[in-house]
Amino acid sequence: MEVLQTRQQLKTWRSKVHGSVGFVPTMGALHEGHLALVRQSLNENPWTLISIFVNPRQFGPTEDYHRYPRNLEADLRLLENLGASAVFAPPVEEIYSPEDEIHISLTRMSRLWCGNYRRGHFDGVALVLAKFFHLVHPTRAYFGEKDFQQVRLVEKMVEELFFPIQIVRVPTVRESDGLAMSSRNTYLSPRGRAQAIALYKTLQYIQTLIPTHLNVEELLREGRSYLTERFPEVQLEYLAIVDEYSLELIEHLHQSAHPRALIAAHVEGVRLIDNMPLRVGD
Ligand code: AMP
Repeated sequence: MEVLQTRQQLKTWRSKVHGSVGFVPTMGALHEGHLALVRQSLNENPWTLISIFVNPRQFGPTEDYHRYPRNLEADLRLLENLGASAVFAPPVEEIYSPEDEIHISLTRMSRLWCGNYRRGHFDGVALVLAKFFHLVHPTRAYFGEKDFQQVRLVEKMVEELFFPIQIVRVPTVRESDGLAMSSRNTYLSPRGRAQAIALYKTLQYIQTLIPTHLNVEELLREGRSYLTERFPEVQLEYLAIVDEYSLELIEHLHQSAHPRALIAAHVEGVRLIDNMPLRVGD
């Protein structure tokens, strides 16, 4: 496995490989969720490149950029064992310059849900991915459904900016109790870890109500009371049921062929997100 740190090294690697290239962008501190993306890419492409880059532009001024877990040695060992072809782990100066002028800004989608609470976050994600897509020229790029708004935004960007890349969605990988795996779970104390299950449990609870409730406002009200009664230490940021294509809130489950519940909450000051496709009428 080659470890590349500069754009030039990446360019040289890219010019040597032929056939489809799968690309898995990450911020490192790898867990089984990331590895599921890598495994799928390895199954579908002769070459798989993983980027490990904690992107400063997607963190707000009060967010955890400096504290974000970094564990390059362990990440490289995991990827090497899986049989990855190459890792691109550049220093920040290789990607951004103080003279940079270009900013990508999304309109509607970057203001919805997580974007409403993390101003500028999705613009930062779009910018780094546009740069990486140009550098890597992947055939396919793999994204987890765990960050559902992100994967929709990437699909939009690739479509609107004509990147010749197939975006592949990979289902959320969970711990045995249902908690969505996340690098940020490592911030939680054992007590916080026990509360963190609230997000998944609330989504599941909403699903169990569907045979008798199709009105979204009612489902959300029930979901919120379930969360506050069972998990008093969890601060809900938002709970929504949206059409999974537009990400707009719906009023009735029959209004969308693909309704999805989205949730974000703070546990011990740690921001966690989750989502679940809702099954109606089966
Ligand atoms: P991150 O390192 O958090 O930027 O995540 C890198 C990629 O891994 C993104 O496409 C995430 O959606 C994906 N990912 C993170 N956690 C999970 C998970 N639990 N299941 C599936 N994909 C995930």
